Amino acid sequence: MTNFTEPDERLALREAVAKLTGKYGAEYIEKQAAAGEKTTELWEEMGSNGFLGVNIAEEYGGGGGGMGDLAAVLEEAATAGAPLLMMVVSPAICGSIISRYGTEEQKQRWLPGIADGSMTMAFGITEPDAGSNSHNITTTGRRDGDEWVLSGQKTYISGVDEAQAVLIVARTEDAKTGKLKPALFVVPTDAEGFTKQVIPMAWSAPEKQFTLFLDDIRLPLDALVGDENAGLVQLFAGLNPERIMGAAISCGTARYALGRATDYAKTRTVWKEPIGAHQAIAHPLAKIKIEIEQARLLWQKAAALYDAGDDMGAGEYANMAKYAGGEVACNATDAAVHTHGGNGLTQEYGLANAMVAARLGRIAPVSREMILNFVAMHSLGLPKSY
Ligand SMILES: Cc1cc2nc3c(=O)[nH]c(=O)nc-3n(C[C@H](O)[C@H](O)[C@H](O)COP(=O)(O)OP(=O)(O)OC[C@H]3O[C@@H](n4cnc5c(N)ncnc54)[C@H](O)[C@@H]3O)c2cc1C
Repeated sequence: MTNFTEPDERLALREAVAKLTGKYGAEYIEKQAAAGEKTTELWEEMGSNGFLGVNIAEEYGGGGGGMGDLAAVLEEAATAGAPLLMMVVSPAICGSIISRYGTEEQKQRWLPGIADGSMTMAFGITEPDAGSNSHNITTTGRRDGDEWVLSGQKTYISGVDEAQAVLIVARTEDAKTGKLKPALFVVPTDAEGFTKQVIPMAWSAPEKQFTLFLDDIRLPLDALVGDENAGLVQLFAGLNPERIMGAAISCGTARYALGRATDYAKTRTVWKEPIGAHQAIAHPLAKIKIEIEQARLLWQKAAALYDAGDDMGAGEYANMAKYAGGEVACNATDAAVHTHGGNGLTQEYGLANAMVAARLGRIAPVSREMILNFVAMHSLGLPKSY
């Protein structure tokens, strides 16, 4: 039977996360960001309640659920105004790749900490000269006896200051074909030769973004996760979850903004009725409600396909979900600002910053245009345009 509702356990999980994150809310996030502080208390409480590792196998300290469960956790946190960006990278990308392709020893070493939040693993693929074209990355791992030597540069890497390690997407030295032959390395953030430089962002958030300089970092052989010749499949074991989580955080941001806008529209009165009585205010909000439900169905389907092991199907739906999520988060935050009139642009109401945050969903982890390229080519069979 086709089922369009989530199972009871997922709904209970959502409720528990909403309760916990609701104690913190947007006020906490804004306060931490303004003070240059992180979300440590929230992250730790989420971890000790098992919410950060719901997708990780029970034998490694996780909840034994799937990507749909982890995305539901993130959507609820964002809906409460307390999105946790590092969930996209640590348990979703790094946790998934290590779970699928790590050795038994690597799983034992990394997964329990990722699951309970006591260790955070950032993720680095983007490079200044490659950007959306990941085939052009030049960070390279070279074998030297019983070590790897890693050199290169990464940019816009989130949360490196709160991570103990970064999963770096590099290429192996002999891969000179022009095609990306990714090799994945776990690099401790305190390794010799590892330097980070913060990128001042216009978006106020507790999570900071960094440029990384990797200068002949020497790593043990088992820093390599998976097979250096496995190609793209290992990488997409992490990138599909990243897109699903991107969609979920965007849906949560949209639900948060819609909630704020609706509450305001019900009470703000400048004529006879509250402003929500005017269709010019009500219709955009109703439209956003519909767009949110569309985007949620897409990420739920993408996650169900991923959890069922259908990576090709998951790829198509994860892309479409990320697109739909990015769009609705932008539309919802814009409508929330507009519904608030002048208040929408004040710092006090926090909605203008939410608009900037939502914009991230159109750019990262893969831009709107690259998703349209993907859908045009793979779903519609149109010629490659780039
Ligand atoms: C806040 C933030 C956090 C991030 N966190 C991480 C992280 O933790 N780890 C990580 O690895 N990366 C991270 N990124 C990087 C992010 O994934 C990239 O910014 C994104 O992939 C786009 O790459 P770019 O910025 O180089 O843009 P570019 O590739 O330079 O693209 C610029 C514009 O050109 C368009 N464009 C490019 N090529 C085409 C084409 N063929 N057809 C049509 N349009 C095209 C793009 O859509 C975009 O609008 C983060 C970025 C931000 C802003």
